[in-house]
Amino acid sequence: MNQADKKYMDFPLFDAHMHYPHAYLDQALEAYEECGVKAGINLWLIDFNGGYHSNYEEFLVDCNRRGLRKRFIQFFWPEWKEFGWNPDGFVKRTCSDMRRYAALGVRGMKVWKDIGMFNFFADGTPVYLDDERLIPVWKTARELGWTISLHTADPSSHFNPRTKASREFLFKKRDEVIAANPDIPFILCHSANYIEDVKKFSALLDRFPNVCSDLSQLEKLGTDDELRWLFERYSDRLYFGPDMGMPDNRPPDRKWNLEEGYLPWRKKLVDLGLTEATFKKITWENGAKRFL
Ligand SMILES: [Zn+2]
Repeated sequence: MNQADKKYMDFPLFDAHMHYPHAYLDQALEAYEECGVKAGINLWLIDFNGGYHSNYEEFLVDCNRRGLRKRFIQFFWPEWKEFGWNPDGFVKRTCSDMRRYAALGVRGMKVWKDIGMFNFFADGTPVYLDDERLIPVWKTARELGWTISLHTADPSSHFNPRTKASREFLFKKRDEVIAANPDIPFILCHSANYIEDVKKFSALLDRFPNVCSDLSQLEKLGTDDELRWLFERYSDRLYFGPDMGMPDNRPPDRKWNLEEGYLPWRKKLVDLGLTEATFKKITWENGAKRFL
């Protein structure tokens, strides 16, 4: 790293949107250490080599054995498409899995965009988020004190759902679930589900006090002036969380993590010129306060 970049490295990050599997836990730990990611939320279930429930449990047990509970907060990611295949069975098993995983330290769950975009029932009708049969899942989340990371829709530039639903329609379904569960904290993934408009982002946060958001795709959200306005105004409700995923063709190495991922993000946030209080909240304190 050159000297000029060093000034971007001297603050800790809480990354509220990470995905790493058991297979790469060692590399991920090492890489996050190097990138100054001191804690974060891991939204992941399925190991790269396949496997399902047994692997997730094994993963949690291994993380706990290694003392990582306060370093990486685990969120359960159910296989949502099973709800379409077998709604009642899915709900029953998911609620019991949630309790089992909560006992192993899991603090929340991921709800993915396949609901509303890609999942169908056996009769060919689409699965939507406000399906009443999912109410026991939300109820269990509430009882466990879980946070829900909720990802609905895709960016407008490549929005192409097999259900043919519009973004607005899916947002409406999402908002019904949020409104019906005011005591569940929701983190909307990817800058309020790729809302692509700071005014709409702001209106959503004003409407729902239980909603926070992680931040990605800033260039689609607004100008730097608009971003500064949004970040300062809602500094308590935004998380750093760029969704780094995993490299497609190699383990999570230094080049991917630091050079391609975290360093450009660090620079962007520093160069925005936020107040110190807002900067600290978004990069670290909001996550630390809520989860550590
Ligand atoms: Zn993600």
